[in-house]
Amino acid sequence: MSGHHRGPVGVRSRPVLCPYCQIDNDKVIDSRSSEAGRVIRRRRECLGCSRRFTTYERVEQTARLTVMKRDGTRQPFSRENIMRGVQASCGKRKVPEERLVAMVDEIDDELHREFDREVSTREIGELVMAKLKDLDEVAWVRFASEYYKFKSVDELKQQLELLDGRVKDMKDQKRLF
Ligand SMILES: [Zn+2]
Repeated sequence: MSGHHRGPVGVRSRPVLCPYCQIDNDKVIDSRSSEAGRVIRRRRECLGCSRRFTTYERVEQTARLTVMKRDGTRQPFSRENIMRGVQASCGKRKVPEERLVAMVDEIDDELHREFDREVSTREIGELVMAKLKDLDEVAWVRFASEYYKFKSVDELKQQLELLDGRVKDMKDQKRLF
């Protein structure tokens, strides 16, 4: 892995406000990492006022969480993987980017709160589906189809009914607390 960390364009977890004019619209003109890749320094140029400023981003220590895949292999937890899956399901649906980012933030937080060392792709998938259902039903169905790899429409219907019930259960449980 190189020290450079360039996430996909448009996938930014928090807004970066220009310190001069306070708008959130800039381009990164240079980025480099220090402290063995834990801190990323980005030189930015504001597209509103053209002034330049520097941000320092500390990479969160989320790597301690390991994801156990269905085939039994393990890989470090990746917020980006979840974001990619969710974005793929949303496709051309008009789901605002901020809402996706906020949803993935929530998922990230909840998983790190509930699981200490290891989480299965099933647990991640179910949490994503529960949240996606509120956001966009079509995206939800797409995500579920990709996730369960249905072989028939009947299987899909069955699974969606099951899932729907489980999402309601999860919500009822949450209400108790
Ligand atoms: Zn500015």
